[in-house]
Amino acid sequence: MSRKKLFLVLIIVAAIAVFIGFDLHQLLTLENLQKHRETIAGWIDQNLFSAVIGYALVYVFVTALSLPGAAIMTLAGGAFFGNLYGLAAVSVASTVGASLAFLIARFLLRDTLRSRYRQTVEKIDRGIEKDGAFYLATLRLVPVFPFFLINLAMGLTAMKLRTYAWVSWLAMLPGTFVYVNAGTQVGQIQSTGDILSGELLLSFALLALFPLLAKYLVAFLRSRKVYAGWQKPTQFDYNLLVVGGGAGGLVSAYIGAAVKAKVALIEKHKMGGDCLNTGCVPSKALIRSAKAADTLRHADCYGLESVPVQASFKTIMSRVKTIIAQVEPHDSPERYQQLGVDCIAGEASFVSPWELEVRHNDGRTERLTARSIVIATGGKPALPPIPGLDAMAPLTSDNLWDLQEQPKRLLVLGGGPIGSELAHAFARLGSQVVQVERGDRLLAREDADVSTLVKAQFEADGIDVRLQHAATEFRLEDGEKVAYCDHNGERVRIPFDQVLVALGRVANTRGLNLERIGVETLPNGTVPVDDDMSVRFPNIFACGDVAGPYQFTHAAAHQAWYAAVNGLFGQFKRFSVDYRVMPWVTFASPEVARVGLSEAEAKTQGIDYEVTRYGLDDLDRAIAESETQGFIKVLTEPGKDKILGAVVVGSRGAEILAEFTLAMKHGLGLNKILGTIHPYPTWNESAKYAAGEWKRAHAPDRVLAILSKLHAWRLGKR
Ligand SMILES: Cc1cc2nc3c(=O)[nH]c(=O)nc-3n(C[C@H](O)[C@H](O)[C@H](O)COP(=O)(O)OP(=O)(O)OC[C@H]3O[C@@H](n4cnc5c(N)ncnc54)[C@H](O)[C@@H]3O)c2cc1C
Repeated sequence: MSRKKLFLVLIIVAAIAVFIGFDLHQLLTLENLQKHRETIAGWIDQNLFSAVIGYALVYVFVTALSLPGAAIMTLAGGAFFGNLYGLAAVSVASTVGASLAFLIARFLLRDTLRSRYRQTVEKIDRGIEKDGAFYLATLRLVPVFPFFLINLAMGLTAMKLRTYAWVSWLAMLPGTFVYVNAGTQVGQIQSTGDILSGELLLSFALLALFPLLAKYLVAFLRSRKVYAGWQKPTQFDYNLLVVGGGAGGLVSAYIGAAVKAKVALIEKHKMGGDCLNTGCVPSKALIRSAKAADTLRHADCYGLESVPVQASFKTIMSRVKTIIAQVEPHDSPERYQQLGVDCIAGEASFVSPWELEVRHNDGRTERLTARSIVIATGGKPALPPIPGLDAMAPLTSDNLWDLQEQPKRLLVLGGGPIGSELAHAFARLGSQVVQVERGDRLLAREDADVSTLVKAQFEADGIDVRLQHAATEFRLEDGEKVAYCDHNGERVRIPFDQVLVALGRVANTRGLNLERIGVETLPNGTVPVDDDMSVRFPNIFACGDVAGPYQFTHAAAHQAWYAAVNGLFGQFKRFSVDYRVMPWVTFASPEVARVGLSEAEAKTQGIDYEVTRYGLDDLDRAIAESETQGFIKVLTEPGKDKILGAVVVGSRGAEILAEFTLAMKHGLGLNKILGTIHPYPTWNESAKYAAGEWKRAHAPDRVLAILSKLHAWRLGKR
């Protein structure tokens, strides 16, 4: 605990001790109020101003420290100052006191709670940010929720003090009035319970419905405002129109059809989108060929004769195409047609929030209407405006797959996942690869120890990794392509045959005519979405790369569920997207697979953690396969087995990670992984051994010391 916090705790404890020690709480009773009312009233008549100030200060003191007596204080307000002044004094003092209690709770406890229960706190914060004022108003209006508890609980959330103060003030007014008014009749009250009759409580309960009704009213007015000027069709062609046939669009359409909605999917190019045609599938196929080449090159490691690998690039690329063709039926128009989705080959653009214009690939145009529309138009590689780059006919993940000849000298711009996967694959296939990265490490999103290991392997496989190199210019010099990079102020010359640009991706929003319906894009090009995946209009949704923040097939599919379900059933209930356990993998060798927090993220977010490491060089299966490079790193809550994050760097990282992902998703700790039988010898045993490392570090030393003595004693050698 920090000094400031300790100081505040001491002050509070001292104040409470004085309050109890001097029996002040005994003074704040109905009997005392009734007994001394006339005497006090007489004094107040003479000293009204000081009395009001003194009364308000005591009120603030009692409520700020969450001491008992606020109800009696409120009655006293009515008894001594009457309805008008009493109400004014109490409502101001109670708001100030409540705000101080709120601040005290926040200062003392919020950080600790956030670091212990980050995910829960973040979820509550999101709810508070959206509807906190309504929740608070409801709680305040029902006087059965203890005043001090609301103050403390709200202090632990992210609610703004200003919002908290004014909502509290407003929503406490009716209850305050009832108490103050009762205070004016204090002589007739037998107990504080008399103040709130059954009827009065019922009226408050009804009143408490008001904020909820107001919430719906605000949502209704907001939606009327966004739709102002648009004429909603009286009937629709579809329940759901989906634009884009990649992972996001396919899953949205699938869900719509599964629940028997009338759905159309509009795709302008190839069904399957990037993942099937230019992303995950071709890249993994290429990586597999590269791995085979590497195995052949290092066959001596397995007792075989190593062979010089002659990559037949054309054959490799044709295998890539065959593999795409094999996966294609999963995403084909025929399959989706059979599922009940109308598949339309064409390009869609918005006409209104319910209407799309579709330019069919055969030249026809038509207009289609739907109650809800899902934008799943994906993204494309970003091409930064580096002088001379255009003239180099740069390769990107889009056009790479048409390459017929293997580049002898390949320059890869970018040290992120796509650049790293492709750089490594080409290097293993025999290209001389120079990989240029502006930052000071590869895979910058991962921890430094991960980047270091990946870089070491890349260099061992012949990649010339240039960190802190920013490409500034491209030139043709005597017929040779040359890149110039800035390296800490120095101009570095890198000649090459082909350049592959992997410097991020931009969302596909061009041509959608979003301007027409007033949907703006963020500076990174993505469409801003709400928690329910809706864009500005509650009936238009976006998912996948066009929405971000993740750019993975499984993230697009995950978001698509929310887009489709909220699109079809949002009038009744809207579900908020849940990203808490989002895994991802960079399929280089070693694979880098992560779920949850990295160390760097935990530090930035101020979350306490413990680290457990397990080296794959200890794993029997890894030793048997001569693939011992890599490690597992698990972050847990201090002193607990709750997993905050895990990264697996190694040969089967992606598969091993699945166990940690499942555990995190379902709240299983490392003890549960340790207690699970894993077949021997498997890669997944490494998860169990990592859990074992954690257990060893948390062994009960005292108990073990006692046991050691017990066993020594039982040996009988005294
Ligand atoms: C090289 C590479 C490797 C990758 N590897 C992986 C991986 O291993 N694992 C992983 O999870 N992710 C990987 N990704 C990312 C993954 O491919 C994307 O995250 C995923 O494809 C996003 O799906 P989506 O539905 O948002 O968009 P897309 O798949 O891009 O689909 C969008 C579709 O919309 C269509 N479209 C666009 N505008 C219109 C319009 N106006 N009208 C009609 N149709 C339109 C496009 O033609 C496209 O088919 C990789 C990406 C790349 C580039």
